Amino acid sequence: MKDIKNVNVLGVGLGPSNLSLASIIQDRGLISQNFSCLFIDSKEKFEWHTGMLIPGMSLQVPFFRDLITTHNPKSQFTFLNYLKAQNRLDQFINLRTFYPTRTEFYDYLKWVYEQIKHLTEFGCEVLDIEPVFDNNKNIIKLKVNYLDHKMDTKFSVLTNNIILSIGAEPNIPNKYNDQRILHTANLLTKVPVNFPEKDGKYSFVVVGSGQSAGESVFYLMQNYPNSKISWCFRNVTLHSTDNSPLVNKLYHGNSIDPFYNLNNLERKKVHEDLQNSNYSVVDVELLNDIFKMQYLESLDGKNRLQLCPRYDFKEATPNQKYIATKFFDHILGKSITKKSDSLILATGYNKQKYTHLLKQLDGYLIKTTDNEYVINRNYSIQTNQKLKANIYLQGYCEKTHGPSDSTLAILPHRSNIILNSIIGIKNTVKKPVKQFYM
Ligand SMILES: Cc1cc2nc3c(=O)[nH]c(=O)nc-3n(C[C@H](O)[C@H](O)[C@H](O)COP(=O)(O)OP(=O)(O)OC[C@H]3O[C@@H](n4cnc5c(N)ncnc54)[C@H](O)[C@@H]3O)c2cc1C
Repeated sequence: MKDIKNVNVLGVGLGPSNLSLASIIQDRGLISQNFSCLFIDSKEKFEWHTGMLIPGMSLQVPFFRDLITTHNPKSQFTFLNYLKAQNRLDQFINLRTFYPTRTEFYDYLKWVYEQIKHLTEFGCEVLDIEPVFDNNKNIIKLKVNYLDHKMDTKFSVLTNNIILSIGAEPNIPNKYNDQRILHTANLLTKVPVNFPEKDGKYSFVVVGSGQSAGESVFYLMQNYPNSKISWCFRNVTLHSTDNSPLVNKLYHGNSIDPFYNLNNLERKKVHEDLQNSNYSVVDVELLNDIFKMQYLESLDGKNRLQLCPRYDFKEATPNQKYIATKFFDHILGKSITKKSDSLILATGYNKQKYTHLLKQLDGYLIKTTDNEYVINRNYSIQTNQKLKANIYLQGYCEKTHGPSDSTLAILPHRSNIILNSIIGIKNTVKKPVKQFYM
């Protein structure tokens, strides 16, 4: 054990969640006070949804909801300070928007990453977490084992505080071994390579009704002017995102305490009520842009975007010439097959199952009757008395901490609560308040 590195905080995954935590640690000057941390990520380098960085697409939250502003607007890591450093602040103000493009926000994330990269290791995949016992059989440390892909060698690091933020993975209904069938996560890496002719008369089927589906349809219409696109979705129509101020209020950091204190039935009701603020919805401006494009094309006699409502995706069968995609058409009450050059699955993401990493700690982690971990307000998993170390979760607590948990909206709030809990500053948890609904 002596030779193994020991850190106060070990972050697993370095997307925006742990980047926010790292920036707050740096912002508070903790590292210089002999406080050590390490953030490990399996990717080769820092990246944020690069397969979906479609030029011109906007961030879905205002830039004020960056990695740190709502915690400390005076921080060096704010989006505004990034703009200043790039000498673009005046021009950005002139845009008169709170919503930068995702490409610009990604550049901001990389700018923050450059300033905290001494705390990170890339190309390292965490494989499992082992308990380290003292003589009384208490777990006094956690040993995190990881594979360094650069050296093809396994290493370990010891810590008392693990922050799991390994994100989500594409939800692909079946395994397809065909380049022409792709998930939106790979849109920009696969479509231009497989379909290089900009004027080609390609046919695309897009499945899904959320933001990624809308962005993919827009991308295809813009970049392949002679293509035909079938947009297939389960609902009766496409719905726009509800981001009105009263709905947005429930995504604020101060809505989390009241949500956390609700009973399970009420929590479910909140999630149901807020479905169209985040899931299977498309930004209204994007819907407007798509339909304007469709209308203008129709003036030239073009009709290449076909909407297919009440289509339930069943399966896809590729052959040499085309992809045959089978749907159940609820309106006609029968199965239908669409042939296309490519099938684009805008079928969302599944939260990565982090539980395999915790297998060896299972007997020490408290579970609900539904066999789910009990999560404390400070985002740690509740443990029994024997486990003296902490495991915090970022991005997996929608059920207990509300719908904002899987968005960028509350990153500084969550990072701050986790950090306070690690360094022993008491977080004040308020009683349930009726204002949550007002
Ligand atoms: C295309 C797209 C656009 C989005 N835009 C917005 C938006 O505008 N506004 C908003 O609020 N939300 C948005 N979201 C949702 C959400 O905010 C983002 O997904 C965000 O990236 C979540 O950050 P994260 O750090 O929790 O996870 P991720 O960004 O997914 O990062 C997780 C990291 O963990 C690493 N990892 C995984 N397994 C391991 C392992 N075993 N060992 C080591 N590392 C591992 C991965 O390599 C990855 O880098 C968007 C999502 C997508 C897919």
